[in-house]
Amino acid sequence: MHTATKIIIIGGGIGGAATAFALNRAGFDVTVYERTSELREVGAGIALWANATHVLKNFGLLEDAISVGNPITNYQFNSQAGKELVNINVDRFDLPVLGIHRADLHRLLWSNVPKEKLVLGQLFERYSHVGDKIQADFASGLTVDGDALIGADGLKSRVRTVLFGDNPPIYRNFTTWRSLTDCIPSGYNSSYIKEFFGSGKAFGFMMLGKNRMYWYAAAKAPEAQPDSALGRKRELEQMFQDWFPSIPELIAATDEANILKTDLYDRIPSRPWGKQNITLLGDAAHPMLPTLGQGACMALEDALVITKCLQAQSDPTSAFQQYESQRFARTKSIVEQSLRSSKMGELENRYAVALRNTFMKLMGTAINNSFHSIHAYRA
Ligand SMILES: Cc1cc2nc3c(=O)[nH]c(=O)nc-3n(C[C@H](O)[C@H](O)[C@H](O)COP(=O)(O)OP(=O)(O)OC[C@H]3O[C@@H](n4cnc5c(N)ncnc54)[C@H](O)[C@@H]3O)c2cc1C
Repeated sequence: MHTATKIIIIGGGIGGAATAFALNRAGFDVTVYERTSELREVGAGIALWANATHVLKNFGLLEDAISVGNPITNYQFNSQAGKELVNINVDRFDLPVLGIHRADLHRLLWSNVPKEKLVLGQLFERYSHVGDKIQADFASGLTVDGDALIGADGLKSRVRTVLFGDNPPIYRNFTTWRSLTDCIPSGYNSSYIKEFFGSGKAFGFMMLGKNRMYWYAAAKAPEAQPDSALGRKRELEQMFQDWFPSIPELIAATDEANILKTDLYDRIPSRPWGKQNITLLGDAAHPMLPTLGQGACMALEDALVITKCLQAQSDPTSAFQQYESQRFARTKSIVEQSLRSSKMGELENRYAVALRNTFMKLMGTAINNSFHSIHAYRA
């Protein structure tokens, strides 16, 4: 047991929650400080591929995740009219792939961490070193100290800014809309993730646990573009009106108030992730585009690896160096592949789109193999 090592985590998203779970289970004295005053995850789904369900299995949470998730067997790419381009069999491992509501995953992780280990309503501002210890200061005036600090505070990480005074993340010219509905499109096979590619636009949907449908749309757009005067739902209905019929059906069945809009960013992978006994984890360390659906899966892998490193090395500085060395190449490759995949959806010219569709059909085996190798990784 490591009760003597006191670890501060900034941010209680999926990365912070998973790390708190793993460190608490390993016997560390860990506390999470989260800026929001109540625990919440956005109303959207998430795909957990075999590389992530492996982590949940290691955590002893896989059976619970299966009970609130939906098993996925195939990831199918289609033209906007619904013609199959590539069909990837994603259940080639002895681990399931799950479509899960983000809030269900979040709840699962938190329900296994003692309540007093999560402190809400605390906005982290800065840290300082006091001897070997870290002191963290919050906007409320709260000051806490620990032996190590992990910044799991997401895309616009304040810990990262204080560490490196870094540039902001890079806007990649895409915005997304996401929502949930109870409508199950006719003819839909619930074990499929279906994605459709048109010109400069894409749409996808999958079933989550408890029979909820999750859909997402992406389109090229300037940063922070305001909603159209029509409202989000009407705008999407117009954008996708002549696409595969399940798409307008899903949009029509969605409550407009529940449509989330998010601009997409990443960072060029760079090291270091920290200094001495401070490091970054999840989107704070390696934000990526969601084209491969791997951001939260990477945060889960990070949580497992950082815990193993802290168990193996009594000195947090050495443990964090080991963690960064083990994680950098893996996450760099996924950030870069996610960016490359986004280029597939960027094409607008009709000839380029036709060429892209033919290319995807021809490259089916290669695309299959590349997904297989991403999902085969075991942290
Ligand atoms: C459209 C879209 C679809 C996606 N689909 C998938 C998918 O299918 N599969 C997948 O694996 N990933 C997916 N992702 C990526 C995934 O959502 C993220 O990678 C993941 O949520 C990152 O978790 P995190 O804990 O690192 O960061 P976050 O979830 O951003 O959590 C950070 C937490 O830190 C808190 N915080 C921030 N600043 C402070 C501060 N100063 N003080 C205290 N607390 C602070 C925040 O309130 C938040 O709770 C998707 C992302 C998007 C945008």
